[in-house]
Amino acid sequence: MTENKKTTNVAFIGLGAMGQPMARHLIAAGFRVSGFDLSPDARSKFATEGGQGCEEVSAALWNADFIITMLPNGKIVRDALLANENWRSLKQGALVIDMSSSAPSDTRRLAQDLAAKGVRLIDAPVSGGTKRAVSGQLTIMVGGSEMDVEEARPILESMAAKIFWTGAVASGHAMKAINNYVSGAGVVATIEAVLLGQRFGLEAGTIVDILNASSGKNNASDVKMKQFVLSESFDSGFATGLMAKDIRIAADLARHLDMELGALSATADLWENAAKELGQTSDHTMMMKFLSKSS
Ligand code: NAD
Repeated sequence: MTENKKTTNVAFIGLGAMGQPMARHLIAAGFRVSGFDLSPDARSKFATEGGQGCEEVSAALWNADFIITMLPNGKIVRDALLANENWRSLKQGALVIDMSSSAPSDTRRLAQDLAAKGVRLIDAPVSGGTKRAVSGQLTIMVGGSEMDVEEARPILESMAAKIFWTGAVASGHAMKAINNYVSGAGVVATIEAVLLGQRFGLEAGTIVDILNASSGKNNASDVKMKQFVLSESFDSGFATGLMAKDIRIAADLARHLDMELGALSATADLWENAAKELGQTSDHTMMMKFLSKSS
């Protein structure tokens, strides 16, 4: 890492629900940040917040010491860096930090292909949702060589409350998929619990309060049910299609490792069906509508 943050060039690709507030923390920490997103609105919002909005991905990549990607999936990350000769804009020795929730198999391949071009990669997916992206309190799980991870630490620290080193490249992405399996299964179990209790005659708010004071407490009961589901605001900022993608990554990982995990496979199918019916960009808390219909 260059001593002076003001002379460290960071490219930030993907300025969506998560990327926009994350990039804001980098700017506030004093880094020189160039950003690109396919959406012109996202680019101009970024420019009003002190970043350098670029019209082309290659312009953002040019001369960057660090390149952060916060995109829907690993295939899009790969295209952003390598397609259309974009890789020609990558600086020799630059460090790519893929903070998207990508598939570990894609990440391994991308790391090898970038290495052949003299560029390093670590994977640093995040947890905490838009709320903790805004407050700069994300949990980050990082896979990569210890030296590369240490080099990226000042960047990661500007967005995070907790940083875990998980091991080799792609291990952060494996951990993220595993986390989202537990998170997505928790959403389903908690919504089904509320539907079941209501059918019996219990009141929805009471069910959630009792879960939260009992052994059934989980992330969905604690920070999603009243806030986004029972209020019917359905605006948690995380899309059904992204949840479905993450749990499918976990299920593919299990298959690749010759494991039969029945609940994981059922959860992956359920989220994929919900994403098809509700729409990929629907908020994932709309799972309530999907499960209400089929219960
Ligand atoms: P989002 O859809 O809000 O943002 C993605 C952004 O990428 C959009 O602005 C889109 O225009 C842009 N984009 C798509 N293709 C592009 C391309 N080829 N070049 C440049 N920009 C492109 O999604 P998000 O919720 O910010 O999620 C981003 C990543 O973070 C995903 O991998 C997601 O799984 C993960 N994630 C999301 C959350 C959350 O709560 N939203 C939490 C943790 C991790």
